[in-house]
Amino acid sequence: MSPCEASMRYRPSITLLLLTLSATGLAAQEPDFETTPIADGAYQFRYRSHNAFFIVTGQGLIAIDPISTEAAAHYAAEMKRVAPGTPLLAIVYSHDHADHATGANVLRRVFHSDVPVIAQQRASAKLAALGDPELPPPDLTFSEQMSMHYGGRALELHYLGPSHSDNMLVAYLPDVRVAFAVDFVANDRVGYRDLPDYHFPEFFRSLDRLLEIPFETIVFGHGPPGDRASVIRQVGYYRDLRNAVREAVERGWTEDEAAERIRLPAYEGWSQYEQWFPLNVRAIHRWLTAEGG
Ligand SMILES: [Zn+2]
Repeated sequence: MSPCEASMRYRPSITLLLLTLSATGLAAQEPDFETTPIADGAYQFRYRSHNAFFIVTGQGLIAIDPISTEAAAHYAAEMKRVAPGTPLLAIVYSHDHADHATGANVLRRVFHSDVPVIAQQRASAKLAALGDPELPPPDLTFSEQMSMHYGGRALELHYLGPSHSDNMLVAYLPDVRVAFAVDFVANDRVGYRDLPDYHFPEFFRSLDRLLEIPFETIVFGHGPPGDRASVIRQVGYYRDLRNAVREAVERGWTEDEAAERIRLPAYEGWSQYEQWFPLNVRAIHRWLTAEGG
């Protein structure tokens, strides 16, 4: 029997299995966490709706964003599964928000290692003021850019200015041209709710600066990975959003009227459009009317 005949013969039973799984709802259930290889020694770790990113070098592992104490326990186990016997060298925070940065001490405990936490310098005072033992402030900070070299592999951390938070960094692995960017950008998804802790107009500049990094693949803090075209589409979305709301403000529409009336049909197929697009409109309206944008 040829492989082709074999696959034809087994297809009916596979279809039946999928139908059975769908009928019981099992096919729709996503596991709480999973690790996805992105490039050689570069992995996305997803816990529920949040993504982290870790890399394996000749010297050890670097984990970006522990996510939470629950996530970090699974994260550590996944890193140990992917790279058995490999030490953890450093933890990096993409930014200071607790829903991405909590859990560093869980990683330290599991790896029996007091590794440094690295973040952009503006995260320091904010995290020190929190006094949360599971969200320790960074031990090492930088202002604009930091390059780390471990076991022949470089990891760059870029600060692109205030965007979502004032201390967001983008991690970049030049050897495989993979970037990791959290919250201020995503793959065919509108912005989060009413764009909390976004800084305008600097946010728009940070999207342009992201494209100055020569990445080919990009992992996001939420949703599936993308490429340069994904980021170019995000730039287009925020440009169109800003223009539409500016036009509404010029017509004298209130925030409620703008949120009710403005639609951008080109983005209706994007993730969270129905729920969050009107809230994105509100956020831009508030900014434009407060500052004249
Ligand atoms: Zn955030």
